[in-house]
Amino acid sequence: MLRIHDTRTKRAEPITPVNGAVRMYSCGPTVYRYAHVGNLRTYLMSDLIRRVLEARRVRVVTCQNITDVGHLVDDAEIGEDKVLAQARAEGKAALDLARFYEDAFRGDCAALNVRPADSMPRASETIDLMIELIAKLIEKGHAYAVPDGSVFFAAESFPSYGELSGNRLDHLRPGHRVEGVDPRKRFHADWALWKHSHRELTWETPWGVGFPGWHVECSAMSMHYLGEHIDLHTGGIDLRFPHHEDERAQSDSAAGHEVVRHWAHGEHLLFDGRKMAKSSGNVVLLSDVAEAGLDPLAVRLAFLEHKHRHQLNLTWDTLRAADRTLRRWRGRVAEWAERPSEPLARDYTGRALDAFEDDLDTPAALRVLRELEHDPEVSPGSKFESFLHLDHLLGLDLSSEIGKAPVLPGGAAELLDQRERARAGHDWAAADRLRDELAGLGVKVSDTTDGQVWNT
Ligand code: AMP
Ligand code: ZN
Repeated sequence: MLRIHDTRTKRAEPITPVNGAVRMYSCGPTVYRYAHVGNLRTYLMSDLIRRVLEARRVRVVTCQNITDVGHLVDDAEIGEDKVLAQARAEGKAALDLARFYEDAFRGDCAALNVRPADSMPRASETIDLMIELIAKLIEKGHAYAVPDGSVFFAAESFPSYGELSGNRLDHLRPGHRVEGVDPRKRFHADWALWKHSHRELTWETPWGVGFPGWHVECSAMSMHYLGEHIDLHTGGIDLRFPHHEDERAQSDSAAGHEVVRHWAHGEHLLFDGRKMAKSSGNVVLLSDVAEAGLDPLAVRLAFLEHKHRHQLNLTWDTLRAADRTLRRWRGRVAEWAERPSEPLARDYTGRALDAFEDDLDTPAALRVLRELEHDPEVSPGSKFESFLHLDHLLGLDLSSEIGKAPVLPGGAAELLDQRERARAGHDWAAADRLRDELAGLGVKVSDTTDGQVWNT
């Protein structure tokens, strides 16, 4: 059974299906620029969770939003809308720009074998859901409209605010920005659900013309597409506060109970020692990786080499090493494919799945894979089946070289197996003799730190 560290309970919690399915909501991209590989690391986490649950035949119903309106440049609710600001900079209509970057996001996810969610609602197309939710919150006394046509959530009406991040209301200090506290707010930590405005991309509501706050979008979309009981909610660690605190307050206040059972957050990807972010100027895109001659799935493998709850400082060396491992494994799988099929090496595949289920301990799963690769006692046919079986979890396209590798002449495969066993048993004389025999068949063998490799 999958166990995932829950940010709220601070424990690894079992993720169990309710009525036959696990319902998972993942905060999606704000589509005003290309996603960088840091963003993609967060989306990979949800993909892995889904694959691990499906490996146990659990149905997973997923939803990921596309934010194309309402996310302001400054998370403290000020500044311009990210999509509108970028549309102006690129001289495009806002929603054209948003669709362009949404397509790019979908392409990047596909290249990383991150499967699309079952529902991917766009904020701009679900405004009616947000209006409905805001009306309900006002009716229940959790929100209030102000004369200019904006609506605020009354933070003090949700006493358990802060359980995710530790930012309790009594610890939050009024902002010390030049603007000071917004005089329209009853309490300094209240936040806008609806923002009155006459800019581009606004909608009519009972309160006034305007656009939704970013946090209310996720509450409205998640509860509409997954219902008022959501098993797992994922996102990057920076979304814990204020985005997820505010989302939790809104959803729970509307539903009258805890809507999300478990919250899982992925740690940040660093590059050059700092969080990867456009504002830090250290962004790496998936297209940069491809331009460097590396397989995009080398990024996926580099991420799998680390736990999702640990920060990962990515370097080009790490990516190149992952690319080499990926190519080696695909080559091995293609070689093993030439041999008679044998049953799975169940002790290995079982251990790898256990590692995945242990709070996504992907580095441990990869160690199992390396052990299996080098185990002389396991037949090539069994290694083949086991690697392909585990690739359902790994998503590394390990079968992509099958049929492309040079074919070994008759008898050479057996000699290679014997030689691998001889090397494992430190029988260097036999290993040398077998190398000569293979050379006689036209197969050149050399030894590397990852084991013997051959070519014809
Ligand atoms: P954004 O498009 O900025 O809203 O971010 C989309 C997702 O990427 C969110 O879940 C963020 O938490 C996550 N994210 C942003 N920067 C990083 C990073 N450097 N490493 C990992 N995840 C990140
Ligand atoms: Zn969200």
